Amino acid sequence: MSTLEATDIRASHGQLCAVHGASLSVRPGKMMFLLGANGAGKTTLLRSIAGDHEMDAGTVVLSGVDVTGMAAHHRARAGLALVPEGRRLFPRMTVRENLQLGASTSREGPWTVEAIYDTFPHLAKLDKSAAGKLSGGEQQAVAIGRALMGDPVAIMLDEVSLGLSPAAVDSAYDALNRLRDMGMALLIVEQDLNRALASADNLLVMCEGRITLQARPDETSLDALAAASFGHAQGVQT
Ligand code: ATP
Repeated sequence: MSTLEATDIRASHGQLCAVHGASLSVRPGKMMFLLGANGAGKTTLLRSIAGDHEMDAGTVVLSGVDVTGMAAHHRARAGLALVPEGRRLFPRMTVRENLQLGASTSREGPWTVEAIYDTFPHLAKLDKSAAGKLSGGEQQAVAIGRALMGDPVAIMLDEVSLGLSPAAVDSAYDALNRLRDMGMALLIVEQDLNRALASADNLLVMCEGRITLQARPDETSLDALAAASFGHAQGVQT
């Protein structure tokens, strides 16, 4: 059974239809990448699945439970986490305080501040530092840690490597690979096609609100991914 199943999601911004019936399914212990050019609809799709953006149609099922009618905080309590683009930390609060805010779902699970520091060892020494003083990579680690504090079964990450140094991106993916190994379902928006091809279990490409390609890495290529980003599908169409 899939951990996260989104079916025929449609979502708009006023008159503009941003997502035209997108479907995806992420199984436990799998890393799915969502690719596409600026404005393709990736953020709107993630926010719709999380319940942060009201969708026009579609269903979201988490671990077999239909959460479509639930508000965002109830979806979080059901085990769905979103790490938003730009991290959205509280800059004057400490690392620990930011992490503790993520525990508000009150789900049972293994994640504590200390467990986050085991996963991101470089955060432990920053425990009392203001989040706003951290580097981009450190802030991304806090944002992922905050999401983990809600003990999710599925985690969605928007533009995970945007603005990070290559070393910080490697470090973030080391942690994400460990979460995959723990059985979590990951849905990751990524601009770096090479990174996505190297790391993915499955890839989706969106263009103008539609999924234009769905493939495993061994079924596709950089050229096919780039072409699908501009609406020219060469792989398995959905
Ligand atoms: P990016 O990589 O630039 O974030 P994206 O693939 O995540 O792009 P979205 O941000 O979901 O795409 O945008 C999809 C469409 O919806 C675009 O045409 C965008 O201009 C529009 N859009 C996004 N947010 C809003 C908003 N708050 N109000 C109006 N239109 C919006």
